[in-house]
Amino acid sequence: MPPADASQQSHDDFQSHPSIPCDACESALSSQHDHSISFLLLDQLTLPLVGCDDHLEQFTSICGLTTEDTAELLSHRPAGGINCPSCHFVPYNPQHPLIPVQNGAVAVLACPDHQDEIIERFRTGLETRQKLTASTDTLQ
Ligand SMILES: [Zn+2]
Ligand SMILES: [Zn+2]
Repeated sequence: MPPADASQQSHDDFQSHPSIPCDACESALSSQHDHSISFLLLDQLTLPLVGCDDHLEQFTSICGLTTEDTAELLSHRPAGGINCPSCHFVPYNPQHPLIPVQNGAVAVLACPDHQDEIIERFRTGLETRQKLTASTDTLQ
């Protein structure tokens, strides 16, 4: 048996206080109450998200750049529920990967497949936005 205590300790130190400059995100992420969960509707996806309102909105608008439809952010569980059964049962835990959004961070409470998908969308959206910003700069 390896000495579990030592490795456990350093692991906890690393995870327990991720430095999120945005206090509102930090407190939303540490509250762990159902009411702090919002829902992103993007194409066929319904994804539970945790973060502060500002950064959730930024996240939503950036993801919205990757779809012809509009990305929508709900502050309550959508009437139709979450259509992916795997996402539906993902519990919140502090080790959930965070997606950095400017000076904040958003947690996506989805199954690994959909988590990968939304992270990919977000990256694509960021690139799209950078291109848009770049072309606007050139015009001015
Ligand atoms: Zn924030
Ligand atoms: Zn899923």
